[in-house]
Amino acid sequence: MSTPSPYLVAPEDLATLLPGEPSFRADQLRTWLYRDPVLTVDEMSNLPASIRASIGEDLWPFNVEIDQSADQGRTRKWLFRTPDGAAIEAVLMGYRKRTTLCISSQVGCAMGCTFCATGQFGFERHLEAGEIVAQVAYANAFIRRYPIPGSPERVTNVVYMGMGEPLANYDRVRESLRRLIEVSGMSARSVTVSTVGVVPGIERLAGEPWPVYLAVSLHGADDETRSRLVPLNDRYPLESVLEACRRYFEAKGRRISIEWTLIDGANDSDEQARKLAKIAKRIRAHVNVIALNPTPLSDDRPSADSRIHGFVETLIANGANATLRETRGQEIDAACGQLRLRSATE
Ligand code: SAH
Ligand code: SF4
Repeated sequence: MSTPSPYLVAPEDLATLLPGEPSFRADQLRTWLYRDPVLTVDEMSNLPASIRASIGEDLWPFNVEIDQSADQGRTRKWLFRTPDGAAIEAVLMGYRKRTTLCISSQVGCAMGCTFCATGQFGFERHLEAGEIVAQVAYANAFIRRYPIPGSPERVTNVVYMGMGEPLANYDRVRESLRRLIEVSGMSARSVTVSTVGVVPGIERLAGEPWPVYLAVSLHGADDETRSRLVPLNDRYPLESVLEACRRYFEAKGRRISIEWTLIDGANDSDEQARKLAKIAKRIRAHVNVIALNPTPLSDDRPSADSRIHGFVETLIANGANATLRETRGQEIDAACGQLRLRSATE
C-alpha cells in the first residue's frame, strides 16, 4: 500500500519508480499500463518478480467498489473509489462493431444543471490525468479477461460523458487526451469530449493537435430556455457557444454533436425543435436526443414517448440530422450519479 499507482506518474517518468533498473524496464512497464493493460501486476510477464514487487499492490489508483452488469452483459458499470474517498463512475457498452467507454473527468460538478444528478451533488474535486486514463486502462484490462461476446475486445471509443465538466478541468483532461492518443495509441477520431459550453475550453481544444469529436450539451435553443436548465448559459450565452462550435468545426473538420436531454414541459416543444433545427443546420451539427433519466432531487420528468418522437420528427422535418439515443443499462441506473449509459458516437 506504500507506492502510489504508476498511473499517477507521467508515462515518461516511470523510470523514477524503478531506480537502478535499465531504461527498457520502464518502457516495458509503460507498455503494460497503456498499450496492453492487465488487471494485476502479476500478469506483467516480462518484468522480473523483484520489479513487480516494487510496483506493489496498488496498480490502480482506485478500488472497484461496484461492478454491475446489465443488458445481458453488454453494459457494465463501475464505481471506483480512490484512497481519499472520491467516487468515480465509468460505463462500458458493447456493440457489434465498437466497445464504448463513458468516463468521468471530475468528482461531482460545479455547473449545477438542474436535471443532472452530478450537478445536484456539487463539486468535490478534479480528477488527475492518471485517474482519467486509468478508467480506460481498467476497462481494457477487464475485457481482455472477460470479453463482451460479439463486441470488440478492447475499448474502441471513449466518451467524456461521465461525471464532471471536462473543460472545467482543462489541463488534466488535456493530459489524459495526450496519454490516450499519443501513449496508448487510440485514434483521436474515437474520442468524444462533451461540454456544457465552456467557451474558453472549446477554444483551447480547437488549438490542440488532436481532432477529437466535440459534443455540446445545449438543452435549450434560446437563452431563456437554456438558462433555466443550464446556469452556465448566463456566463456563456447560446450565441457565444455556437460561435465557438463553428470555430471548432472549422479548425478540426469534425462534425459537432448537440446533446439534447428532453424534459417534459421544459424543452420539448415543437417551437424548440424548430429553433434547434435551425441551429444544427447553421453549425452543421448532428443532434442526439435522449429522454431525461429522472433524478431523486428534481421533479423533472422525461417527455412522453409520443412527444419524444414528435420532437425528433419536427427536427428532421426542419432539415436537421437527428438521432434518438438508445438508453442502456436502465436496471442499473438507480445507483449511479447520472451516467445515461449510452453511446455518443454513431
Ligand atoms: N459535463 C458534460 C459531460 C458530462 S454530462 C456535459 O454536460 O456535456 C453528459 C451528458 O449527460 C450531457 O449531455 C448531460 O446534459 C446529460 N445528462 C445529465 N443528466 C442527465 C439526466 N438526468 N438524464 C439524461 N441526460 C443527462
Ligand atoms: Fe455538470 Fe454536465 Fe451535469 Fe451539467 S450536465 S451538471 S455540466 S455533469
